[in-house]
Amino acid sequence: MPAVTTNDILSLPRIPRPGLEDRPRQATKIVDSLRTFEGAGFPVRRPFPTPALTEDTDPFLLLDHMVAAYEPHEAKGAPWHPHRGFETVTYLMDGTFVHTDSHGGGGVIRDGDTQWMTAGSGLLHDELPSEKLVMNGGVFDGIQLWVNLPANAKMSQPNYQDIQGPGLTLVSSDDGGALVRVIAGTVGEHHGPGQTHTPISLVHASLAPGARLQVPWNRDYSAMAFLLHGEGTVGDDRRAFTESQLALFGTGDYLTVEAGPEQTFRSGHMEVLLLGGQPIHEPVARYGPFVMNTRAEIVQAVEDFQAGRMGQIPPGYEGREYAPDPADELPHSGLEGDEKL
Ligand code: MN
Repeated sequence: MPAVTTNDILSLPRIPRPGLEDRPRQATKIVDSLRTFEGAGFPVRRPFPTPALTEDTDPFLLLDHMVAAYEPHEAKGAPWHPHRGFETVTYLMDGTFVHTDSHGGGGVIRDGDTQWMTAGSGLLHDELPSEKLVMNGGVFDGIQLWVNLPANAKMSQPNYQDIQGPGLTLVSSDDGGALVRVIAGTVGEHHGPGQTHTPISLVHASLAPGARLQVPWNRDYSAMAFLLHGEGTVGDDRRAFTESQLALFGTGDYLTVEAGPEQTFRSGHMEVLLLGGQPIHEPVARYGPFVMNTRAEIVQAVEDFQAGRMGQIPPGYEGREYAPDPADELPHSGLEGDEKL
């Protein structure tokens, strides 16, 4: 897959084996993804929030695996819509997203790139597949993660980080069979380039058949593994782990995932995302693309959006908004049955 890779995994720094005193974090819960549609109608696999997993994901609010093999004229995105109160992290393993926002920002995210958008006090943006992908069809494979912000940062200035694929920190498992891309946070002594308000770690690992990956993990962080593609096991006790499942880990010092002997995904590897962070432990009031602490702040967000205080759709893009009225169903609606106003 076009995510950043290396021809010489053995030349990379290796993650040291856990020490004798280190305790494994075992999978305490394994859930399947909900298959649904987002934005203007692109397919996503969503491990949370779902009826099976609405809590225990702090500081994260949502994870979508956007994966499709599009026919020509089939690819869709998420036209103009607002966000307030959290960060969106978009990491593309394959395909191209073109992004534009109401502050004149944006850019192209492709093949191993990450865009880290701190929505903060609010903005409008447009996330679309490239024209080439729409015209010709093709593979699209990426994730979008929503990272919550604490109350004192929800109204901060919007901000972006564009992290190019080659800028990721690459390391290898102790057995040399897993390539580990550190997008943000730390794996042992190795730091990823993403700067996050809420401390998190985010890792994409590719495991060769039979490879075992053991990763030291901050004991104060939550910890999850999401299986993007392939088959294997999770935890030192080797619980079965299949494609599109998410495992939540209990307490301890390190995480383990292991690839099964046969991998049928086109990369030939088991592709897994490891993520976790410092829980925020604050009340969450969410309505579509707005995530605040109280219902009153949600009402304010809707009013601010309707009054144009989160920004305006730039000239040339008028009429392309997905849902001008938040009373309609907004894109990124999150969990069906969210608190309605
Ligand atoms: Mn969005």
